[in-house]
Amino acid sequence: MTAETAAAGSARPLVLVVEDEPDIAELERYNLEAEGFAVELAFDGARALEAIARRVPDLVVLDLMLPGMSGLELCRKLRGQTATARLPLLMVTARGSEADRVLGLELGADDYMVKPFSPRELAARVRALLRRSAMAAETAGGESYQRGRLRIDFATYEVFVDGQPRTLTARELELLKFFVRHPLRVYTREQLLDQVWGREAFVEPRTVDVHIRRLRQQLERDDSRPRAILTVRNVGYRFNPEGLD
Ligand code: CA
Repeated sequence: MTAETAAAGSARPLVLVVEDEPDIAELERYNLEAEGFAVELAFDGARALEAIARRVPDLVVLDLMLPGMSGLELCRKLRGQTATARLPLLMVTARGSEADRVLGLELGADDYMVKPFSPRELAARVRALLRRSAMAAETAGGESYQRGRLRIDFATYEVFVDGQPRTLTARELELLKFFVRHPLRVYTREQLLDQVWGREAFVEPRTVDVHIRRLRQQLERDDSRPRAILTVRNVGYRFNPEGLD
């Protein structure tokens, strides 16, 4: 507990590593600590939830293949709780489990890495994700957006549709923010990746589609007939504020 308290008072961000293989967990801990992070380990989902209940970390590295509660289930639980709804979440998947990756992003993971990866890459991804989420929190400061059924408070990260609070991940909110600030123009997936994910992210254009789908589920009356976030066939997407009226 003393170590935890000390870490809380310092500038070292706390990373919770959820990984059932002790060797890998220790290796990740060793390297993240060497890169200046405070690290806590949890070997399964239940212990991860206990650790988070004690203290919410700055970021979670989450292996999807866990005994008991799966990583996807844990991801869903974290996104469903107010305290962890926007906690940066870097998921780790086995090579080839593409369906899990897509599902993980749909459940709100911010980024993913495929095993095996180098410890340096892990530290770089963790740093990039923390930077993005800090930037999102800063640039959002104190402003709000209101149009029709949608209200966004960028200071508190609260989104309301028809007066009802909606839970969005940090990345979904960044994408939504980009749209409301750049209405009516068509953007390609690649442009949205550059603008919202940034150049350090090694993500596929399809990731944009996953996030668009999630935003539509939150915003649109009928997400099979979107009126606010429009698909421009063979090009990309366009935000139409009138679709919110
Ligand atoms: Ca595992």
